[in-house]
Amino acid sequence: MKPRDLTRYLNDLGWRDPLDLPAEEPKPTGATESPPEPVVDSMPEPTDLAGLARFLDGCTRCRLSEKRKKVVVGEGAADSRVMFIGEGPGAEEDRTGRPFVGQAGKLLDRMILAMGFERDQTYIANVVKCRPPGNRDPKDDEITACSAFLDRQIDFIRPEVIVALGRFAANRLTGTEKPLGALRGKWSHYKGVPLISTYHPAYLLRTPADKRKVWDDLKLVLAKLAG
Ligand code: URA
Repeated sequence: MKPRDLTRYLNDLGWRDPLDLPAEEPKPTGATESPPEPVVDSMPEPTDLAGLARFLDGCTRCRLSEKRKKVVVGEGAADSRVMFIGEGPGAEEDRTGRPFVGQAGKLLDRMILAMGFERDQTYIANVVKCRPPGNRDPKDDEITACSAFLDRQIDFIRPEVIVALGRFAANRLTGTEKPLGALRGKWSHYKGVPLISTYHPAYLLRTPADKRKVWDDLKLVLAKLAG
């Protein structure tokens, strides 16, 4: 009797070889030993804005870290009622490590003053914390890499209103791809916080005729804060 026939014969009799241990599950071809480990940051989870800034110092989670000079985390009051969120740092912000300090920033300062606030009574941040080279648009994976940090900033500040400045902030926070013209002037929410989207100050420098629309949007914010 051939060995294979003998095994079948003994199986039919109900006889089991005591050393017939269960075979290991064959591994699918190409499978690795174990699933890849998630990237674990060596620092403890930040619990406040200062901790987040330390956490982000030296960040290399995306390619923007290769050419940036400074991480521009954000700045302002931790108890701010209004949070402005722009797109990403430009050259001046990259040099100084502070958000909105170039020409667009000067216009944002005037908008904030017109609302009756000092700049340092608000909080100003960006969707991406490092300058896209040559001021190009941030890419989707760069926005995703920075996404948790913006979320933590919003969690720590819990503003009464968020103002998204420009298309990238508006799209990121509304979760849509709609053009800004379709988003501005309407309330939505992000993480439970009322959100208004409006034109970016850099756009207003090129298109001053739209300043009126932005002022209308900011008046909605003031009405919400007064209510
Ligand atoms: N534009 C932005 O979106 N953010 C800045 O910080 C500066 C310019």
